[in-house]
Amino acid sequence: MSPLPILTIAGSDSSCGAGVQADLKAISALGGYALNALTSVVSETPGRVSRVQLLEAAMVADQIRVLFEGFPIAAAKTGMLGGRAQVEAVVQTWRVLAPAGTPLVVDPVMVATGGGKLLEDDAIEAVATQLLPLATVITPNMDEAGVLWGRPVTTREEMVDCALALAARFGTAVLLKGGHLAGAAADVLCVKGELTWHEAARTPGVQTHGTGCTYSASIATGLGQGLPLQEAVARAKRYVSAAIAEFYAWEGGTGSVHALN
Ligand code: PLP
Repeated sequence: MSPLPILTIAGSDSSCGAGVQADLKAISALGGYALNALTSVVSETPGRVSRVQLLEAAMVADQIRVLFEGFPIAAAKTGMLGGRAQVEAVVQTWRVLAPAGTPLVVDPVMVATGGGKLLEDDAIEAVATQLLPLATVITPNMDEAGVLWGRPVTTREEMVDCALALAARFGTAVLLKGGHLAGAAADVLCVKGELTWHEAARTPGVQTHGTGCTYSASIATGLGQGLPLQEAVARAKRYVSAAIAEFYAWEGGTGSVHALN
């Protein structure tokens, strides 16, 4: 049987550790057939964003349209969207073209680990009011969750309060990633008020550029393959943790990038 088509709507990372390139690797490695609608091109290496070029919103919408016309898309994820016009293009095309019930994982990407801004300020409101309510599950990290919640998220207790609040506000499941917590890498998943923790031992000294992209693409692949959300998240967490544990590093390079396959 042919693998199921999984769509990523995201930006291009020239160093291929994050963005659509990470998504394509994760979707392929987990048995999906990867499709991509590019929102932007970013010249970057791990820890350094040099330039960001957003694509025209009409071009973003058109990629999604031709893909829905040509493939039975089983699930999708969004990553870096860049600007308000791009967010609205995704929302409008998704509303019209995605068959009801198509799983959508929204990774509300805002800022790269190296500090580069990946979402314009005036797009945050469009993400919150228009895109997040369409999601099956949203996957903010602690910083992004804090922006959406309006209060900082720094502890496990705050992660729980925030996940419950965001789930109620947007009517979606929430996977709040605690990658910045001290101790184990612990994420909390909130589905209809029920909380489960997904934990992995922390691998010290690793460049984790792109792990969020890989995680959300892996979850979308699992949902497209019919896994229940809990299982899709558990498999994705195992995949990301294995990728981090087997990371690549190049001496004299700009950093190390984890392996994704
Ligand atoms: N660059 C692009 C194009 C991305 O889509 C993302 C996604 O989150 C990032 C960079 C983020 O990378 P980092 O893991 O360094 O925050």
